[in-house]
Amino acid sequence: MFTRYMKKAVFPGSFDPITLGHVDIIKRALPLFDEIIIAIGINADKKYMFSLSERINYLKKTFAKESKISIDSYEGLTVNYCQKINAAFILRGLRNPADFEFEKAIAVTNRKLSGIETVFLLTSAETSFISSSIVRDIIRNGGDASTLMPEAIL
Ligand code: ADP
Repeated sequence: MFTRYMKKAVFPGSFDPITLGHVDIIKRALPLFDEIIIAIGINADKKYMFSLSERINYLKKTFAKESKISIDSYEGLTVNYCQKINAAFILRGLRNPADFEFEKAIAVTNRKLSGIETVFLLTSAETSFISSSIVRDIIRNGGDASTLMPEAIL
């Protein structure tokens, strides 16, 4: 069956909110996969600035024209979600050595648990400094974060 051989990747994250850093990684991953599911992981212990429906809405607006991209959310382990939707890859972005150290342990664990491979893309120089937490800080303090966020959601 064709769907078995489709290269499907999950890009998991909080996306609180989506930034141009995320957009850079997703756009550059498009040629590598047949389908990318941007999936918001719901963590009951985490406090978010934007509600789940706002974050989903921002993602949908940003990628409305991309037929290979869909938006979803999930609870529980990322690998369980990947298995449920038949995705063999997890996509993550790397900005710096701190990201690498953190992501390495998770990626190795995920592969051990499920055989799912994590594919890392290095961020572009222009977006490597961007993080959702900096964007939230700017917004919280009444600053202008518009140069760090996708135009579709401004
Ligand atoms: P999480 O809470 O899981 O870290 P995020 O929404 O902060 O979720 O990030 C999701 C993914 O996007 C992670 O792989 C993260 O490294 C990546 N990412 C975030 N900001 C950038 C950026 N500026 N450049 C490249 N990748 C990024």
